Amino acid sequence: MRLKIVAGNWKMNNTINEAQTLIIKTLQQSPKIGANQLTIFAVPFPFLYTASNFVKEKSQFAVAAQNCSSYAKGAFTGEVSATMLASLGIPFCLVGHSERRTIFNENAEVLIEKMKQLLKNRIRPIWCCGENLEQRNTNAHFEVIAAQLKAELFTLDKEEFKNVIIAYEPIWAIGTGLTASATQAQEMHQFIRNEIAINYDLEVANQTTILYGGSCNAENAKELFSLADVDGGLIGGASLQPESFVKLISSMHELH
Ligand code: PEP
Repeated sequence: MRLKIVAGNWKMNNTINEAQTLIIKTLQQSPKIGANQLTIFAVPFPFLYTASNFVKEKSQFAVAAQNCSSYAKGAFTGEVSATMLASLGIPFCLVGHSERRTIFNENAEVLIEKMKQLLKNRIRPIWCCGENLEQRNTNAHFEVIAAQLKAELFTLDKEEFKNVIIAYEPIWAIGTGLTASATQAQEMHQFIRNEIAINYDLEVANQTTILYGGSCNAENAKELFSLADVDGGLIGGASLQPESFVKLISSMHELH
């Protein structure tokens, strides 16, 4: 059975005190979820160590970094390497979030290097893809996602690829309050799974966790998480309050 994930992407939010409160309350209030389900806190770099200590020995929780360097080590002031993340025991890292692509100009070449660094350090990339509003409105969304898959993910060999989690996040839905409809989400997730089957094989495709992201909240999560090819969510705004994040975790728990 595929791994089901509810991952909170805090972005550049919270102080250390707020971070601790959010994690403690989420741990206290979350239902006990199944062995194939995971809750992830994707926290800013300064909170990784503390967050990791909170989830230590709690198998249903894990911590992710939101970014890493494309370089291995050395004179790169301000960068954080995958090796450093691995030395903290961080098991996951976001790669290619649309904010990194658009605000920080990260392109395919850089994102492939980041994934390689992570995989070398046994950290699982959570690779994000998504089309913008113009691409959706001109019906170019499948083409855009196919191109992102080909240029970035499908450069990995099969064994490398098996470690990747995908997050489909239509850019027009991120932080906007607009969510993909159940039909839009399911057809894109199915499309991505089919592309994986063509590029690798059906078994790999069926084992790949594909998350939905984009204004997913306590109200719409159940419908989205119940779709055949949606294996959970990458959650921004709604992961910043324990009440809403726990509701999202519970939605997943009640379905699987
Ligand atoms: C995100 O940034 O990954 C995201 C999905 O944000 P939001 O849930 O706020 O749209």
